[in-house]
Amino acid sequence: IPADLRRNRGIRTTEVQLPDTPPVIEIRHLHKAYGQLEVLKGVDLHANQGQVISLIGSSGSGKSTLLRCANLLEDSQQGEILFCEESVKWRGTGHNRRPADASQITRIRTNLSMVFQSFNLWSHMTILQNVMEAPVQVLRRDPKEVEEKARMYLEKVGIADKADAWPAQLSGGQQQRAAIARALCMEPKALLFDEPTSALDPELEQEVIRVIKALAEEGRTMVIVTHDMNLARDVSDHVIFLHKGLIEEEGAPDALFGSPKSERLRGFLSATS
Ligand code: ADP
Ligand code: MG
Repeated sequence: IPADLRRNRGIRTTEVQLPDTPPVIEIRHLHKAYGQLEVLKGVDLHANQGQVISLIGSSGSGKSTLLRCANLLEDSQQGEILFCEESVKWRGTGHNRRPADASQITRIRTNLSMVFQSFNLWSHMTILQNVMEAPVQVLRRDPKEVEEKARMYLEKVGIADKADAWPAQLSGGQQQRAAIARALCMEPKALLFDEPTSALDPELEQEVIRVIKALAEEGRTMVIVTHDMNLARDVSDHVIFLHKGLIEEEGAPDALFGSPKSERLRGFLSATS
């Protein structure tokens, strides 16, 4: 294989070991541009049920865009997205391509809950109300049942006692754990994390990392964008290193971090450690 082609296909440090579980997210050769700016240039990502995938790479490499494309918060111009083996239906092509089926969009968005760097809690709602909001308003679930679940998830992330507090009364770490409880309360098929610890002071990062590790251990399907190489190494089944909108290298965490093949990945890892 010629070197430039090999680069475009990325280096596969280890064969992707697909577990014997059904696929939840499949992204095939996705292209995304903002106007003239090509941000994703043919990216693949697979997450089977129970798998944890980490996305690493320099700022601007397209990590957030890929997550946002996965749950259809962004349009993409080429490539396929499948959710639980169901292909996203498109209408139009290129810059006019849009998801065609509103009920499919809702199904995908509500099943791929996102946790953002900046928490994004509603400041005018209590923590409990924040966690209950989407299941009640979007999924139209029974408020009594949702409240029970919400309290259970707050307990799980260790902030049951903050149910009636306002977001502003919580530390950053507590706010992020509330945001995780809110995502869990949707009972999604997968959780998408976009740099969940980047806005936190180092001493507060750990309490969020503990929650993410516990979720990984209980077999949740997750895609995690992170700058925290220890987190990526500890929780992932598979790590993808994105560079300028292409997969530069991917593989099992031990191989990828232990013996990176790509010069760029080696540079990236030595800059971040
Ligand atoms: P990462 O999360 O890896 O830091 P992003 O996916 O946020 O990278 O961004 C990838 C590239 O796309 C960057 O060059 C960024 O400036 C650009 N970009 C992101 N969002 C937009 C947008 N809404 N409009 C135009 N350009 C954008
Ligand atoms: Mg980002």
